[in-house]
Amino acid sequence: MTTDPAKAPARAARGEKIKRMFKSAADALSAALYPEEITCDVCLAELNEPSRFRVCAKCLDALPFVGDDFCLSCGSPLVAEEEYCLRCQNAEFAFKLCRSPFEYDGLVVKMIHDLKFGGKKYIAETLGAFMADTFLKREMFAEIVCFVPMTREEETKRGFNQSELLACDVAGRLNLPMLPALVKNKNTSEQKALNARDRAANLEGAFGNVFKEVKRRSILLVDDIFTTGATSNECAKTLLKAGAREVSVLTAAITKQKIQFEQND
Ligand SMILES: [Zn+2]
Ligand SMILES: [Zn+2]
Repeated sequence: MTTDPAKAPARAARGEKIKRMFKSAADALSAALYPEEITCDVCLAELNEPSRFRVCAKCLDALPFVGDDFCLSCGSPLVAEEEYCLRCQNAEFAFKLCRSPFEYDGLVVKMIHDLKFGGKKYIAETLGAFMADTFLKREMFAEIVCFVPMTREEETKRGFNQSELLACDVAGRLNLPMLPALVKNKNTSEQKALNARDRAANLEGAFGNVFKEVKRRSILLVDDIFTTGATSNECAKTLLKAGAREVSVLTAAITKQKIQFEQND
């Protein structure tokens, strides 16, 4: 093959064109055989038929669903026969209740990680489908969907707010209006390293309300993970202060209960 550098760009362009033609022919053929190229959001295995959750049967089986025994307040799975978990026996939340389809464990950790840090925004649709199902199954009620906001700086860093993506999807599925009613005024990205009490203190005054439409409305607050409840609580307080009638929380996952005294470590 000659390697005339002057002709190289034209050759490369022609090569690209041929490749594209082959690809579109191959795509057309595969589209004729399979209606859509669908893969499992978790393991990327090809799905043989369209599924609402875009998760293969194997992964669906392995997902850490919250069962029917859960804390009446935060919705975390309970082991003992009690109505409230340790977290809620010792806390008073401003929101009415929280429910989540999953425990923050196993494959769900991967899904949320892929969504937040891997830029796989489409995972919000799959999580949103499970969340909307939980909303209906647990007989939750809301008139407006809101989400936990990020500061402008935090959102610029990530490129999107995963809670907003989840809220959009959930609102669409439940046919409810979504309002970006809250704003965040304070960066709290170091939140992870703090214990429950410091988390709450760090968040104080972090959120503001910009929409008066929340007045006298039942709000569904959407977030990705419920950890100590400090974030949901602070957002709920802000919404209630702005006149919301009540706030329920829906998150994709809730963290496992930690033994209480671990907080003192
Ligand atoms: Zn899978
Ligand atoms: Zn609880």
